Amino acid sequence: MGASEPVSDTGGGVTSSGKRKAPEVPKTHHELRKNMERGLHERDRVGVQDFVLLENFESEDAFIDNLRKRFNENLIYTYIGQVLVSVNPYKKLPIYTSEVIQYYHGRNFFEAPPHIFALADTAYQSLLKENRDQCILISGESGSGKTEASKKVLEFIAAATGHKKQVEEVNDKLIGSNPVLEAFGNAKTNRNDNSSRFGKYMDIQFNFQGDPIGGNILNYLLEKSRVVHQFSGERNFHIFYQLLAGASEETLRKLYLKRNLDTYYYMSNGTKGTIDTIDDAVQYNEVIKAMKTMEMTQQEQDDLFAIVASVLHMGNVGFTEEDGVAQILKPASVEAVAALLGCNIRQLAEAFTNRTIDAHGDVVVSPLNREFAIYARDALAKAVYDRLFTWLVTRLNKSLQPVNNPRSKMVIGILDIYGFEIFQKNSFEQFCINYCNEKLQQLFIQLTLKSEQEEYLKEGITWENVHYFNNKVICDLIEEKYKGIISLMDEECLRPGEPTDLSFLEKLNVNLNNHPHYISHMKADLQTQKVMGRDEFRLVHYAGEVTYNVRGFLEKNNDLLYRDLREVMSHTTNSIIKNVFDVKDLTSKKRPDTAITQFKNSLNNLVEILMGKEPSYIRCIKPNDYKMANQFNEQIILHQVKYLGLMENLRVRRAGFAYRRPYEQFLQRYKSLCPQTWPNYYGSAKEGVQLLVCHLGYEQDEYRMGNTKLFIRFPKTLFDTEDAFQM
Ligand code: ATP
Ligand code: MG
Repeated sequence: MGASEPVSDTGGGVTSSGKRKAPEVPKTHHELRKNMERGLHERDRVGVQDFVLLENFESEDAFIDNLRKRFNENLIYTYIGQVLVSVNPYKKLPIYTSEVIQYYHGRNFFEAPPHIFALADTAYQSLLKENRDQCILISGESGSGKTEASKKVLEFIAAATGHKKQVEEVNDKLIGSNPVLEAFGNAKTNRNDNSSRFGKYMDIQFNFQGDPIGGNILNYLLEKSRVVHQFSGERNFHIFYQLLAGASEETLRKLYLKRNLDTYYYMSNGTKGTIDTIDDAVQYNEVIKAMKTMEMTQQEQDDLFAIVASVLHMGNVGFTEEDGVAQILKPASVEAVAALLGCNIRQLAEAFTNRTIDAHGDVVVSPLNREFAIYARDALAKAVYDRLFTWLVTRLNKSLQPVNNPRSKMVIGILDIYGFEIFQKNSFEQFCINYCNEKLQQLFIQLTLKSEQEEYLKEGITWENVHYFNNKVICDLIEEKYKGIISLMDEECLRPGEPTDLSFLEKLNVNLNNHPHYISHMKADLQTQKVMGRDEFRLVHYAGEVTYNVRGFLEKNNDLLYRDLREVMSHTTNSIIKNVFDVKDLTSKKRPDTAITQFKNSLNNLVEILMGKEPSYIRCIKPNDYKMANQFNEQIILHQVKYLGLMENLRVRRAGFAYRRPYEQFLQRYKSLCPQTWPNYYGSAKEGVQLLVCHLGYEQDEYRMGNTKLFIRFPKTLFDTEDAFQM
């Protein structure tokens, strides 16, 4: 293990060679007392493994202090009950070896130190033993380690299952889908050199023996604006750099590409070229290898890279303006796009510089000025890339489909999705992301309370109400029919006349001014809250207040691509492009859904999928802003503890019975604390535990005896100290 974390004596610990130690049960009261003293000392050094054991559980300071102690000892995992909190160490720790996987495989959750493998194993065991679909929800801000965590879960499952050739093949594909998706969907940002710019939900499907048989991926909201623009210090999606660095001369020649990155406008805004942590050429070969694992044909790969190259050429088209009419600056770039996608050069050039409007049968062609031509070109590049990405997900899913698709299967879903975002300036994208987080928080509340209730019922204990903040009111504010923010936004987008971002804001202010979670600039002025601009509104999210700037909302929501360009695309010979620009859409009278409505629908679909599953949670935390090891920045961490709702998590957990153990486990572990149960108790485990808790001086209200488990409200007696040490 990375650091010497004490482990349970019931199951034995792991030595550096990965072998299990023989259990060491204390033999006398004297030994036990010594152990407890050692436990207290250890607790000072490494903190508690479960935040529910913190005496001062309402204190943020105590919470952070515990995280810091553990982080300093390279103990990056801590529980809040069943929730796993993970702090990104920004360095390789030797805690993911096959020995460690073996150690956690089949072990009881609370018998071993907190670990992501413990969580993965518990999910897998419940799937097997109770036939219940599982989902693992990973959240946290950019760079906190969500994607790494999701890969660890996948690795654990692959290692725990893959002993037959057939199963290994499935596991290879599940793992192989990652490099392909990351090449197209990840990019270097200022926060993370390998930042996922899309949300991902992946189902791993199992047969009833517990072997993986396939999978399915759903993707959410790719940040397509990155294709045409990157901020200083950031890059475009990895695949562009990989292709230029890794492809052979011959491939590049076929794609009309030069290796020199400076050649391409779409790669020129952000940081130029390579970065230390990523070898693009090596990654290119990995991606090609993974595409083969995913059974993508040479033709598919050729079509795909032709599209990637065509996007770079689109960026280089360039326009001048004569008498208010856009003129193409570099016809060679238009030719390259036409050749790569297989369409008519002249038609493409026309579509880049004109707009056809069909107003009730009157067809009018009007030339675009330079500004609009650039807008149309960028819209095309974004649409092409975005649709390519969705195609890729569909294609990977085809490879992941189980061979003999059984009628019933069990699944473990893994959700790796953007965490709450609060920037200096928050726009449409942050609105979508934070809306998504509200929905997931709502799901968390429903599922946590549901599972608590279920457990109490199963154990025959009377349910006691837990008080918590229910964020349904905020979800409603955003998505309610007719008067929610989304409805009002769509209404404004579709309104005839000249809707603008400011007219949309006005609409919000008029309709929502009385809502307790909506703050207009008027309200802010009145309440002398933080001053707001005249183009802003503020929402009181469950995780805190966020001020949004409405500029760009309507345009991003409309997501318009001129018909001329869509028409050319739907008649290309590139089979992928032809497929994703359906010719039928051109004649359809129905207006496509707005961006936010599409997102809302896909989120509601996701919630429905997750609702039917038993959840586990991983909350990821980034320790500093510099991607550095051994740097624990309290301020940055506290911010995340708040926005992840961890204090609320802990409160909910502590509000009921925070500590619970099956009778057998508890008796075995603590029988030496009571003369009547030591050295052996011959009655039932439940009776033994009853004697034990009475002997330990627990009052009637402090604990409950369930059907199979003991529940303790506040675990604060001696054995908890020792438990913190021993667990
Ligand atoms: P984003 O939202 O931007 O996609 P993320 O939460 O998915 O961010 P990751 O890409 O998983 O973040 O992690 C960022 C980096 O942090 C990784 O590339 C890796 O260098 C480091 N890292 C994350 N988790 C671990 C870990 N468990 N051990 C070592 N390094 C880690
Ligand atoms: Mg990620």
